[in-house]
Amino acid sequence: MSIAYLAGSFDPLTLGHVALLKQGLDLFDKIIIGIGVHHQKAALFSFEERAEIIRTTADEFQLDSSRISVESFDGLLVDAVQKAGANAILRGLRTASDFDYEIGMCDMNHTMAGDIHTLFLTAPAEYRNISSTLVRQIAKMGGDVSPFVPKYVLKALSAKLA
Ligand code: ADP
Repeated sequence: MSIAYLAGSFDPLTLGHVALLKQGLDLFDKIIIGIGVHHQKAALFSFEERAEIIRTTADEFQLDSSRISVESFDGLLVDAVQKAGANAILRGLRTASDFDYEIGMCDMNHTMAGDIHTLFLTAPAEYRNISSTLVRQIAKMGGDVSPFVPKYVLKALSAKLA
């Protein structure tokens, strides 16, 4: 069984993440989503809220939830990947600056665990440049983030920022 580990903050989940998840499901039998909780204090949504958003959105997009699992992680990514029984790390690439950051992480992960491979995918153009950071900023300033996030995230954002 091919298993990929998709790590990130998902604070909150965006349509870019959903596109990446869909692409991952086309390529792997199972995707394990690892929600990084190391900076939890600064996060807008708790781990439980982020996990709930991912599960609800997977249903909304009719993704096969039996092939998606969600967990938290706060240590080394390669440890989490090995513990989960995966041998691929799935990452999204948006811009050249993403690449500069990602390539270093990819090389160092490969040195630490040579049997773990990193696969980079780009989301379709309309979703490629969406970032959780900008979504949070726009939402906090009262802007309309509906083009960038799943429906359930819109609700969760209005409840959180009300
Ligand atoms: P991090 O906090 O590690 O940057 P994110 O939650 O922002 O994590 O993203 C998790 C993964 O999803 C990363 O690999 C990131 O590159 C990818 N990703 C985020 N937004 C997009 C997008 N719009 N298009 C493609 N990949 C994306």
